[in-house]
Amino acid sequence: MSNERTDTLDNLVIRMHPRDNVAVAVNDIPQGHECVPGVTTNQAIPAGHKVALADIPRGGAVIRYGAVIGFATDMIRRGDWVHENALRLPEPPALEDMPWGMAAPALPRAPLRTFEGYPAAGGGFTGTRNLLAIHTTVQCVAGVVNLAVERIRREMLPRYPHVEGVVPVTHAYGCGVALDTPGAAIPLRTLRNLVRHPNFGGEVMVVGLGCEPLSAGLLLDEADNTPDNVITLQEEHGFDAMVTAILRMAEQKLARLNKRRRQTLPLSHLMIGLQCGGSDAFSGITATPVAGYAADLLVEAGGTVLFSEVTEVRDAVHLIAGRCVDAECRDRLAQEMRWYDNYLRGGDVDRSANPSPGNKQGGLSNIVEKTLGAIAKSGTAPIVDVLSPGERPTRRGVIFAATPASDFVCGPCQLASGITLQVFMTGRGTPYGLAAAPVIKVSSRTALKQQWGDLIDFDAGPAATGGMTIAQLGESLFHQIVDVASGRVRPAAERYGIHNDLCLFNPAPIT
Ligand code: CA
Repeated sequence: MSNERTDTLDNLVIRMHPRDNVAVAVNDIPQGHECVPGVTTNQAIPAGHKVALADIPRGGAVIRYGAVIGFATDMIRRGDWVHENALRLPEPPALEDMPWGMAAPALPRAPLRTFEGYPAAGGGFTGTRNLLAIHTTVQCVAGVVNLAVERIRREMLPRYPHVEGVVPVTHAYGCGVALDTPGAAIPLRTLRNLVRHPNFGGEVMVVGLGCEPLSAGLLLDEADNTPDNVITLQEEHGFDAMVTAILRMAEQKLARLNKRRRQTLPLSHLMIGLQCGGSDAFSGITATPVAGYAADLLVEAGGTVLFSEVTEVRDAVHLIAGRCVDAECRDRLAQEMRWYDNYLRGGDVDRSANPSPGNKQGGLSNIVEKTLGAIAKSGTAPIVDVLSPGERPTRRGVIFAATPASDFVCGPCQLASGITLQVFMTGRGTPYGLAAAPVIKVSSRTALKQQWGDLIDFDAGPAATGGMTIAQLGESLFHQIVDVASGRVRPAAERYGIHNDLCLFNPAPIT
């Protein structure tokens, strides 16, 4: 698949690949309008939806991005609106014997190679923020921790100007859960890895209740599980004493965090995540190829880029497999896909549960079309590693981190893997944000940027309608990533403090 839009037709419709027999309407097109020479619309085509460029017989392949996105359920005439009901979903690609190690194109040269970050103690990936995190073992303590955090922000933070915020890592896990079941490995790993997140500066602070199955000892390395780092509410004498204990410990941690300073570091120390949410038919034309170009630049400079969302990769898995650097990486990809196939089957759903109604309204007919657009965000570089949900990488470059596609579940999984910045592409719009790392929101359409001017950080719409190329916009997004990582720019969700709850991926039973 090409990373570059190959054909613009009168700015009315966009065809992504010369083989395509459908194109996407840039704006609403009325009935009876010649949108391409020789193609006159038989019905009105809503913006973002597809128009047939050729007659397609019943059962014939409907092609977008040069790939089959479905088969015609009935005769489609040239000029017809090709809506979701006109398509039958193809079978997902087989996971056996997928190709790997295909030759990758040369990456574009990054315009700069350093940023200003907080060095990691152990030489791992670098922090983009200097935050005090208060981890929790169980939801029972969340109310007390949240009230204590309000006081820390109000009464203490102004005295520690080099600390950029306080993050209560509260969640719905920790009690009423079976810990000795295979599915529990994911939430446990996620919470353990969050303790060591680069933006938390190596300071460890945990608040537990005292009777929960998930004890502090299961979250922490043995050396960290000390009274200097752990508060147990059942050992305190009332609410006041609990808050006092939390404030006292926070003061110790803030004093140490306040000594941290940014340093000029190579971009090889930076790991970012990519995610889509509320996609539309423009996402795969503008936002994801622009993010993919920025990813290529970052990887060329030595950086690491995670992309995720299993159900939005599954239908193009053979293309991702082809980019894997070795057979082991390819096998891990197949293994993660198989795990998810079984997980969905266990819940009696299949991949057609994605796209959402909003995706479909935005013109995305089915998961295949959504997937072909979504994977463009991973750029073109070889894929060096595949991670289970919440796992830490051991290699640098483009990495597929298997997570659910759900925005607020993918976010914590990528954070646990260690991303310190997320680029979030949206077509429909969402105020999504993470407390532990800045999120750059990229709109797929200029109309969304106009509607949500104070929430969208970067508009990729001009790739479709504004006469700018994917490469120009991609380089501009790359600069924004470096500016945000360096703390020079704070994206909207960070400025306003818009943070989603930390929703852990827990495929295990709740008891
Ligand atoms: Ca998502």
